[in-house]
Amino acid sequence: MTYYPTISALQSLLHEVKSRHQNIGFVPTMGALHSGHLSLVERSVAENQLTVVSIFVNPTQFNNATDFKTYPRHIEEDLALLADFGKKIAIYIPEVNDIYPQEVASQPFDFGGIELQMEGQFRPGHFDGVGTVVKRFFELIQPDNAYFGEKDFQQLQVIRKLVEIEKLPVNIIGCPISRAASGLALSSRNKRLNPSQLRESPLIYQVLKQARQDFGTKSVKNITHAVTEAFKSNPELKLEYFTIADEVTLKPVQRKIKNKKYRAFIAVFAGEVRLIDNIALY
Ligand code: AMP
Repeated sequence: MTYYPTISALQSLLHEVKSRHQNIGFVPTMGALHSGHLSLVERSVAENQLTVVSIFVNPTQFNNATDFKTYPRHIEEDLALLADFGKKIAIYIPEVNDIYPQEVASQPFDFGGIELQMEGQFRPGHFDGVGTVVKRFFELIQPDNAYFGEKDFQQLQVIRKLVEIEKLPVNIIGCPISRAASGLALSSRNKRLNPSQLRESPLIYQVLKQARQDFGTKSVKNITHAVTEAFKSNPELKLEYFTIADEVTLKPVQRKIKNKKYRAFIAVFAGEVRLIDNIALY
């Protein structure tokens, strides 16, 4: 199967599609693909004449060197999973040089504060790295539509803000979270879970569903306390944060206000593996 290691190799195909006034969809990934990624690709293929799927483990969005080093890389398997899409997709697996022609560093962004909450607190600089790589991809590919999972809900909101601030001509489309039958949100990092971590991992979605049920009748303080207790007694999972936040500002809230939308967000460690998830509370 063909894939493109540089933007110049991909350019003539992109020009061809644009000259026919057809739409280009874009699905950025870090590879180790699973059916969550494929759901984004399917949506893009249904809505665009050509979909560019990128596979690039972006060094600047990792605040932890071990996490970057151990991030799963399975290019052969990824290509096999994408093979069925045939000519409807172009796979872009850039060299680091293509994305960072000068130095491998991120541009600092001001996303109006949403980048400082949750993931921003625990992964300093993470969203500067995300903003930098996504902006670069948008400039290189110039997609009409770009697809991001709600699995990384804060990232999705950061990308929406990036497009607004930088006035980038691309539609951002949020896609629902794909889960395993156990409820665990699919993630490339799940490949690193051992059997007992995997056995305990459904607790993450269970507490989120319980929070959705309790939000509005119980206080945020009580809900948070119950979540903290549930993880305290778990032998495999360590809670990093559980936050109920306004869906737009991502600021933590203490109580429900009418006509506002909220989500519960969670980050958990299973050994060295960091897992995140979230749920709409409406
Ligand atoms: P990643 O490879 O982890 O950077 O993810 C690439 C894209 O796939 C991002 O937009 C993610 O939000 C999305 N994604 C990852 N896991 C899931 C999932 N379980 N369900 C839906 N989208 C996902």
